[in-house]
Amino acid sequence: MERYWNEEIETMSREDMKKLQDERLVKQVKHVYENVPYYRNLMDEKGVKPEDIKSTEDLHKLPFLTKADLRDAYPYGLLAKPLSECVRIQSTSGTTGRRVVAFYTQNDIDLWEDCCARAITAAGGTNEDVCQVCYGYGLFTGGPGLNGGSHKVGCLTLPMSSGNTERQIQFMIDLQSTILCCTPSYAAYIGETLHDMGYTTDDIKLKAGIFGAEPWTEEMRRSIEKSLGIKAYDIYGLTETSGPGVSFECSEQTGMHINEDHFIPEIINPETGEVLPDGETGELVFTSITKEAFPLLRYRTRDLCVLTRKKCSCGRTLIKMSKPMGRSDDMLIIRGVNVFPSQIETVLIEQGYTPNYLIEVDRVNNTDTLDISVEMNLEQVSGDVKDKEKSLAVAIKTMLGISPKVHLVAPKSITRSEGKAVRVIDRRKLHD
Ligand code: ADP
Ligand code: ZN
Repeated sequence: MERYWNEEIETMSREDMKKLQDERLVKQVKHVYENVPYYRNLMDEKGVKPEDIKSTEDLHKLPFLTKADLRDAYPYGLLAKPLSECVRIQSTSGTTGRRVVAFYTQNDIDLWEDCCARAITAAGGTNEDVCQVCYGYGLFTGGPGLNGGSHKVGCLTLPMSSGNTERQIQFMIDLQSTILCCTPSYAAYIGETLHDMGYTTDDIKLKAGIFGAEPWTEEMRRSIEKSLGIKAYDIYGLTETSGPGVSFECSEQTGMHINEDHFIPEIINPETGEVLPDGETGELVFTSITKEAFPLLRYRTRDLCVLTRKKCSCGRTLIKMSKPMGRSDDMLIIRGVNVFPSQIETVLIEQGYTPNYLIEVDRVNNTDTLDISVEMNLEQVSGDVKDKEKSLAVAIKTMLGISPKVHLVAPKSITRSEGKAVRVIDRRKLHD
C-alpha cells in the first residue's frame, strides 16, 4: 500500500490544486513586490503590477529571475523578511560558480522539512525506520533537509554527514539502518566499500535509498540497487528553492512528483524564454508560492527536463518532472556536438564498466579533444585492454556522434566522490 505524508495535498484534484496555487501566487507576488526592491524594479521595467497577477494563467507575465540576479543581489538583495525573522542561512555547493546564499524563517524550515518528509514517506519510510543521512551537513542543504524530514517522519535519524566511509558501513551494520540518504555517486562508493570490506547485502538491513543533488542515469540506479540490495529513489531540489524535496520519486520510479502546493513549475525554451507545453524538453522554472524569507518568482534553474501530468500508479496527482539530464551549463559542446556526461555514463554502465570515470576536454591545434578515463574492475584487467578500449570508443561514438579517446585505467585509480561528483574537466576554459 502506498503511504503518503500529506494525503490531502498529494492526491488533491487538479482543480483544487489550481485554486490553492492561484490564491498563494497572488499573495506571494504582492509580498515580493512590497518587500523586495530588486524584483519590484524588474516588474516595473516589464510594466507588470501585482494586480495584473490574478491566477497561474498570468504567471508568464512576470519577469524571470536568474542565477546572475542572485549574484547581483548577494547577499541581502532578495530578502523579503527582516533578518530578525530569519533563523537560518544555507548556501549552494558552488558547483558552477560563486556561491548563492538563501535565507529561511522558521516557517520556511518547517515547510522544507515537510517536503523532505513526503519524500521519505514515498520511499516507504515510517517511524520504524533507521535513516542514515550521509549528505553533507553544514551550508549544503542536503544534510539539514533530509535530517529535518527524517525527524518529522519519526525515523531514528543518524546524522552521519559524508565521508569516513568505513565508519558509515560499520554504523549501517551495527545500528541496522534501513534508509540511506546521500548523493548517488556516494551511494555507489558506499556499495563498493561494503563489498571491499568483505560484506554482502545480507549483512545490512537497508531497504531504500533517497539519492539526489546531482544527475544520475537509470543504469546507475540499477547498479546501486544491486550493490546495496535496495530500491533507489530520486530526489531533486536546489538551494534557491529551499533545498532537496522540491520533487521526489514514488514507487513507480518514472520521474519525480513536484510539491506543487509550494512550487509552481514551468518549462521554457532556454533561448527564447517562451513557455513550452507539457511533454517538451526545456529549462525548468520555479515560482515558490509559500516561502517567506527568500521567495523567488520564476527562477530559472538551468536544469533541463520534461513535465508530465500522466496519471501515476501511486495515486499522487502532483505533476511529475523527468530526471534532469543535466544543467544547460553542464552540457559540453565538443566539435560542435552537444554532449551530456550522463550519455557517456549510460554507455559505460551498459558495457559493464564501473561508474568511475573522468571526462577531459581540451583544444589542441584548434580541434576539440575528448578523453575518457574509465576504471576497470579486477576481472576486466585481464585480456587485451587495447581491444576493449577500441570497442568502448565505438559504443560511445554511436551514442554521441563523435569519437572519444578511451583510456581504461587500473581499479581504484579514479578518485571517489563523497558528495557531488566531479566528472568533467574542461581545459578549454583555462586557455580562454
Ligand atoms: P550548486 O548549484 O552549487 O550545485 P545546489 O547544491 O543547490 O547548488 O544544487 C542544485 C542543483 O543540483 C540543481 O539545480 C540540479 O542541477 C542538481 N540536482 C539536484 N538534485 C538532482 C537530481 N535528483 N538529479 C539531477 N540533478 C540534480
Ligand atoms: Zn507517483
